[in-house]
Amino acid sequence: MLKRTLKVRLYPTGEQKQALKELQIRCVKLWNRANYLIRQEYFKSGKILSYETVYNLVKNSSDYKALPTDTAQAVLKKLSESWNSFKELKKLEEENKLPKHIKKVSPPKYFKDRKKNQTLPMSVIPILAPRSYSLGDFSFSFAVPKDFKQTYGIKKRLEILATYKIPYSSYKLKRAEILNRNGKWYVHISVEIPKAGIDKTQKVNYASIDLGIRNLITLAVYESDKKLTRVYQFKAKELLKEWKYWNRRIAKYQSKLAKSGHKGYSLKLRKLYEKRNKRLKVAIQQMANKIVQILERYGVKEVFVGDLTGIREGKDYGKKLNKLLHNFWIRKEILRVLSYKLEEAGIGLTPIPEAYTSKVCFNCGLEVKRPKQHFIVCQKCGKLHSDTNGAINILKRGLKLKSLEWNKVREIHLVWKFKRTNRWIFRYKPLSGANSVLRTSSENIQKEQRQTPCEGKALTPANAGCYC
Ligand SMILES: [Zn+2]
Repeated sequence: MLKRTLKVRLYPTGEQKQALKELQIRCVKLWNRANYLIRQEYFKSGKILSYETVYNLVKNSSDYKALPTDTAQAVLKKLSESWNSFKELKKLEEENKLPKHIKKVSPPKYFKDRKKNQTLPMSVIPILAPRSYSLGDFSFSFAVPKDFKQTYGIKKRLEILATYKIPYSSYKLKRAEILNRNGKWYVHISVEIPKAGIDKTQKVNYASIDLGIRNLITLAVYESDKKLTRVYQFKAKELLKEWKYWNRRIAKYQSKLAKSGHKGYSLKLRKLYEKRNKRLKVAIQQMANKIVQILERYGVKEVFVGDLTGIREGKDYGKKLNKLLHNFWIRKEILRVLSYKLEEAGIGLTPIPEAYTSKVCFNCGLEVKRPKQHFIVCQKCGKLHSDTNGAINILKRGLKLKSLEWNKVREIHLVWKFKRTNRWIFRYKPLSGANSVLRTSSENIQKEQRQTPCEGKALTPANAGCYC
């Protein structure tokens, strides 16, 4: 089972906001009452009351009854969970194993502003089970206390306008939590996703992934029956252009701020940074989607990935690209998104040590020369893109293959088009050298490949400069 959070944005009316705030206060009252009981017992005897004990103590109280059962129970569950984690941290503290960022371990607190002597609203309104809420077309509804009928005219369920990504029917909805973040309302629903079983009858092939700079990812897919290797290069160039565009805008705004003598925090500046990072994340997400699409198409069951920890020695770093590279989180983000998407698709991911994968020719195993950053030259076999060579070497190592035929390698290039389309599209470079960009639907890779001028031609030492 995979666990994910489904995020639902809510658009409550003014009156509905009032009802939500009222619920937050009621949740807090129950929390504080139950927490008082647990704290008293803890400071007296050192024992932590169990969920059942607390439930039996408070179930007849007015604070418990002021909430729908599923919410009241969820509040007690949450409280019980935070006491449990307190217990675990306390144990770690005694063993001197406390994580560095935790300075002090203290029992769960009351939601209370001591200075003003005011009850603070609960950070979330928890709902225990899906029987008490439902997702409709553009709406989220959930059970509310009975007396809301009088105060707010709400019968049984409160229905709020909502937008969300529709979950698949195989998703199991679990606990939900309504929360307010910077004035916006959301519901976070925990969902369980059954792991896609690896169907070995259909999935027979392997692939490898090499992370680089000039190519964010080089993906090599090996079709075992045809002994054919397809190499997909995800070009970073266009993405870099966009990255630079945002950097220019940030720099411009920074100098404007400096001229006006502004010091300290700027909301607009922060928003520009956020936007830049978000744009990059979209491209990474889309790249991961595309990769999964390709892997599924060729029935890949396992992907080998080069060393995850560092940047390989002697890899391709142009001056311009260094800036992008130094933002180390990009690599981390790529791996995070990719491993998550592969897990969802039921495709395995195996790390492979990548020492020497960039230094030897995949075809003959001889050490290669590197006259230019992105080329390798093998004395025997000829010229080849260094990332293609790296990815195939990782594939060979993962499969423990002795040889792969040079003439059964196809190179396919993808570029990020951020203007208008916002997706990764295939790009072909015909032999003549003229740049012809074929825009075709991402769903129909095969059709696209038929239109390629160089389709069918193997990558040979003679046409290695072509890369179609
Ligand atoms: Zn060679």
